[in-house]
Amino acid sequence: MIQFLDLHKINEQYRGQLEEEIHSVLNIGWYIKGAKNETFEKELSDYIGVSHAIACSNGLDALRLIFKAYIALGRLKAGEEVLVPANTFIASILAITDVGLVPVFIEPENAHFNIDPKKLQERISSKTKAILNVHLYGQISYSQELKQLIDANNLLHIEDNAQAIGASWKGVKSGAIGDASGFSFYPGKNLGALGDAGAVCTDDAVLAKTIRSLANYGSEQKYIHECQGLNARMDEIQAAVLSVKLKDLDASNDKRREIALRYRAEIKNPLIKLPNCIDKMGHVWHLFVVRCTERDALQSYLTKCGIQSLIHYPIPPHKQKAYIEFGNCELPITEKLANEVLSIPISPIMEPNEVSQVIKAINEYK
Ligand SMILES: *Cc1c(COP(=O)(O)O)cnc(C)c1O
Repeated sequence: MIQFLDLHKINEQYRGQLEEEIHSVLNIGWYIKGAKNETFEKELSDYIGVSHAIACSNGLDALRLIFKAYIALGRLKAGEEVLVPANTFIASILAITDVGLVPVFIEPENAHFNIDPKKLQERISSKTKAILNVHLYGQISYSQELKQLIDANNLLHIEDNAQAIGASWKGVKSGAIGDASGFSFYPGKNLGALGDAGAVCTDDAVLAKTIRSLANYGSEQKYIHECQGLNARMDEIQAAVLSVKLKDLDASNDKRREIALRYRAEIKNPLIKLPNCIDKMGHVWHLFVVRCTERDALQSYLTKCGIQSLIHYPIPPHKQKAYIEFGNCELPITEKLANEVLSIPISPIMEPNEVSQVIKAINEYK
């Protein structure tokens, strides 16, 4: 059986160093907001190329903290609109509605699954104040065209960088393109912790200070509370684990790129549409998503061949019960994609013969 993502095997590569770091936390005896957090924040901000990184509890909280901070600073107000891709993971939408902002769902481009700037332009109104752009499946969702629209409409630009850590656009890393960015270190992400973890990156010192306080009960000084915050901190063990794994991120993203290159060169089946890749450095292949009009049949066939596959995502946010108020939105491309997408195995520990097996099985699909 070829697993979709063998996390045990991925983390096994770092076992020695991880055990050392976990023991070090035990020996130091300091568990929250300590030296491991400080070190990881410094390493992450250096890696991304921003002046501030704030470690936090998970990717959803990273995005919530950004919006909460903009509201606290008066730069966004409840009721204002935030543009967001319609085909994203629900966390992107939850972060927007959590603080009373209104999501405006934008259709993706079929070829690369990311937001279509032309569709975005049509949806900008006087209430539109921000865009939460998502680098979906690991590919940069940014372009000169999008930049012009963001600048011309004076939008706050927030990046959901949960899936694309390590990707870059014209030499600038994802997470350093917009005004602020949210990261997820959920175990299955390209940089995964041994539990939940996340971060915010920004060059805005005021925003960074506000987020740091908001993530810690609205407090910078113990028992003095400036605002109504959350408890959304990262623990020291996760920070120590992430420092170990960050050092190997570029190498492990390169392994994903090699597999994607093989898939794109060697999968040849008229029933299967391959994902496009605009620029090699602009994609870190968190997921390799193919399209097939008879997706469910393809998935059962692959299961029979001993190949695990997953669907990202089977039901778009506006069709979820949680967002029944958006159920009538007309988003045909998003809905069609939800019926056609299938993610096939890709990960830094996949062996060349496993990649060959996946290619062979897909090429033989009829
Ligand atoms: C994983 C993910 C999140 C949420 O991250 P968690 O750490 O799971 O809370 C947000 N947005 C996208 C696009 C994601 O893939």
